[in-house]
Amino acid sequence: MTNKIQLLPDHVANQIAAGEVIQRPASVVKELLENAIDAQATHIQLHIKEAGKTLIQVIDNGTGMLTTDLRLAFERHATSKIRKAEDLFQLSSKGFRGEALASIAAIAHVDAISRTAEDELASQLIIEGSKVMRQNVVTSPVGTTFTIKNLFFNIPARRNFLKSNTVELRHIFDEFHRVALAHPEVEFKMTHNGDEVFHLPKGPLQKRIVGILGAKAAEKLVPIKEETSIVKVGGFIIKPAFAKKTRGQQYFFVNNRFVKSPYLHHALLGAFEGLLQADYHPGYFIYLEVDPQAIDINIHPTKTEVKFEDEQSIYAVVKSTVKHALGMFQIAPVLDFDRDTSLDVSYDTHKQPAKMPSIEVDASFNPFREGKKTTAAPQWESLYSAVEATSLPDDAVQVPLNMPAQAAPKVFQLMQKFIVSSTRSALLIVHQQRAHQRVLYERFLECTATQQSSSQQLLFHLQMELTPEQKAVYDTYEPILKTMGFDVTVTDLAVEVKGIPVLCEQTEVRSIFEAIFELGAPEAEHASFSPSDRMAKTLARVSSIKSGTVLSIQEQQALVDDLFSCKESTLSPFNQQIFITLNQQELDLKFN
Ligand code: ADP
Ligand code: MG
Repeated sequence: MTNKIQLLPDHVANQIAAGEVIQRPASVVKELLENAIDAQATHIQLHIKEAGKTLIQVIDNGTGMLTTDLRLAFERHATSKIRKAEDLFQLSSKGFRGEALASIAAIAHVDAISRTAEDELASQLIIEGSKVMRQNVVTSPVGTTFTIKNLFFNIPARRNFLKSNTVELRHIFDEFHRVALAHPEVEFKMTHNGDEVFHLPKGPLQKRIVGILGAKAAEKLVPIKEETSIVKVGGFIIKPAFAKKTRGQQYFFVNNRFVKSPYLHHALLGAFEGLLQADYHPGYFIYLEVDPQAIDINIHPTKTEVKFEDEQSIYAVVKSTVKHALGMFQIAPVLDFDRDTSLDVSYDTHKQPAKMPSIEVDASFNPFREGKKTTAAPQWESLYSAVEATSLPDDAVQVPLNMPAQAAPKVFQLMQKFIVSSTRSALLIVHQQRAHQRVLYERFLECTATQQSSSQQLLFHLQMELTPEQKAVYDTYEPILKTMGFDVTVTDLAVEVKGIPVLCEQTEVRSIFEAIFELGAPEAEHASFSPSDRMAKTLARVSSIKSGTVLSIQEQQALVDDLFSCKESTLSPFNQQIFITLNQQELDLKFN
């Protein structure tokens, strides 16, 4: 009996291996673009014909290759990026397996031209199905050009398996977008069948995103930013109002590499919870920077998955950073006035020089007054010119209201829980507890920003004995509590509360301190919120008017006024929707 086992010829082994790396034209695009980035190119062109079935060409101005390196680059496991196994844990390059070029050359016609800065002339290498056909010396600028034709020419099954041009082109765009988004510092051009489809000059990330999504994207983006000891988070989220029914715009980058992470995606879903309608997906461009030693990107052959050492903390930081950004910016232009984008200011004062809050109070302002605005008062004034401004057809019979417009109370309370009012063209229903939380939250933050607050002295001082743990918690927050208007004397473990902020109720003092002790010391899971932010939230939660509280007309009116002079009036500090509106269209639908 003769031996049955034989080694496969190289070209067959290469073809089989190539199938893993190169599934479709888009895989070639990805590998070539990433090689150009790894070669430090600052300018990259991608030319495609027939969705990559006829031509894929990548031209870069990177380091280029010496003649011998160009030859070696097409050998399996030939890489300049790692030398030993340990290098895998220090990776800063996109590639490292040394398989891409060998795979591409096994299943296509390749023309590679490359020149380094030291050389006067470039080398050219022509390979067809792993066979070197020719090697030339040519003239060419510094950098590398790969021209790939007849992909899968020797694997008809693969070629027939390719999808329509539309589908294949979509995959190519996806890869192009991922690389271009990961590298706004690199200029990209892309053509398809000779037409320019993208020209992305180098620039800030926001410009790159807009360059890819289109000019309208600019107003949809909310920046996110956080830095903790384990991860740096940056990028943008798409405002919930612009969410889509498709899952297209979801990008995570770890150390400038696009990754898929169902785990972190879950964190995003959590952060957007309650802000999206069913079937809508959050959009995000999130950039994480972590110590390369603390991740393993080696777990998947096409390297789009990542394993973090400290997965849970990263999850928590990402989620709270996004929540924070959603809560901090006016994210849903629900009201019918043109929003002033200068209101999109963060209160995150602990990272910015303190400045006076931008809320301007116009003492002479009277929401019931008719007529023109006399100052640059907040635009919500228009809310109350409600009824009279509604355009009615000329021949409409105007039924007089039972009270003249100026005197009529424009608010009423519903179910001891909501305040009902109207805007110029819509019915407005405000959740009283959440509205008050928002108002208090902003006022407490203002105290820490301006270092100014007003206190009220307690009639009966509150005496408390603290445990050492409670004392430690108290100590962390003491300076913040002082700036917010608390007057407290501490002797050892005994605490005497003599005064509290005017914003708090005297009857709530004990619950306030209980809530503070519950808050505990600042820990990693809260690391993305400043202690003053967390204290402001706690105080706002405990001191807010609760559902079930009956409010006078004046109180209702004042609360609505206060709400709409907040920097953010759509979401409570806990990211819950504060009000809803019903416009005529929506009402008409209900009466259909
Ligand atoms: P890997 O990127 O995993 O190292 P590749 O097969 O993609 O493997 O590339 C092999 C080698 O060829 C790279 O390590 C690099 O040294 C060289 N190379 C590939 N593309 C370029 C390029 N555009 N410019 C300069 N060198 C390149
Ligand atoms: Mg590579």
